[in-house]
Amino acid sequence: MMPQTEMTELHWLFDMLQHIDVGLVVVNTKYEVELWNGFMENHSGVSSSNARNCSLFDIFPTINQSWLQHKLDNAFALRTPIYISWEQRASLFPFKSYRSVTSISDTMFQNVVIRPINNANGSVDHLCLVVYDLTDVAVNKAALSAANRKLDQMSKTDGLTELNNRASLDRAIKLTFDSFAVGNSGPHCLVMADIDHFKNVNDTYGHPVGDIVLQEMAKILSSASRRGDFVGRYGGEEFSVLLLNTTKEGAKVYCEKIRQQVEQRVFNSNKGDIKITVSLGCSELGKQHSSIEQWIESADGALYHAKHNGRNQTVIAD
Ligand code: GH3
Ligand code: MG
Ligand code: MG
Repeated sequence: MMPQTEMTELHWLFDMLQHIDVGLVVVNTKYEVELWNGFMENHSGVSSSNARNCSLFDIFPTINQSWLQHKLDNAFALRTPIYISWEQRASLFPFKSYRSVTSISDTMFQNVVIRPINNANGSVDHLCLVVYDLTDVAVNKAALSAANRKLDQMSKTDGLTELNNRASLDRAIKLTFDSFAVGNSGPHCLVMADIDHFKNVNDTYGHPVGDIVLQEMAKILSSASRRGDFVGRYGGEEFSVLLLNTTKEGAKVYCEKIRQQVEQRVFNSNKGDIKITVSLGCSELGKQHSSIEQWIESADGALYHAKHNGRNQTVIAD
């Protein structure tokens, strides 16, 4: 007979295990349930009396049986705990999550520990499965990485046009220059495109309309470009396009296509229709460019000539 105080403690312990916010299941060597606490009852909808003596795999037919059986058999054989992380398998038991406030998940993410239970004589013929609800952690982690992806994208993108920003253009130009310098790639062209008399657009129609024209201009450049071309806003009303694996003859075709599309385009605004033109300068990267700056200056010089010669034209650097 147990003393009264030990009986009381046992009763307390049992009550706590029944109500703890962690799932507890004990199975025998035939994977039949012998203990099923309140957490398991609440989340599975299966009462303890119904679960008891049933195989775990009959209660949850969707569990990958051979996979879990392998884990359980290992825990019996090795007599060591086995851990199943939510990052490895989001949820072992198909429970719904009632906590998730976001749409990221309506299933419960779980960590599960399979723990061998030692008998008094040292043998092991029962395992305890301990189920932790990790949904909050998983949802927070997903939200954090979504925020990081967004921040990462924002740091590379121009806010107005959603093109690559100046910093990512500089990086792309440097990577291209370095790979050409060691003889790994080419030919490559750098295009500088600057809207003609853009100040007039702002002065006549207002800055917000000017912004819309810049956004439309960005779309023209993007849709005329191929995969692998790198389109960015260099600053103000000036755009840069890095045409990889393209000769200056190919780049000229691209520039003229852009120039003609812009010339023919009517930009509608609530203050009337707007027509603009664009000047383009282009330089093919060559051995004569001993620095990135020289390559950019060469494209800028070509753009300057296009402006000086009367605008609305393409000039390719020699
Ligand atoms: P040019 O043909 O010589 O290029 O003449 P331009 O008027 O286009 O050249 P300028 O460099 O004198 O003026 C550029 C104008 O672009 C002035 C500036 O207010 C405008 N601008 C620069 N960034 C933005 C912007 O983000 N939004 C708007 N709406 N205007 C901008
Ligand atoms: Mg301009
Ligand atoms: Mg300018």
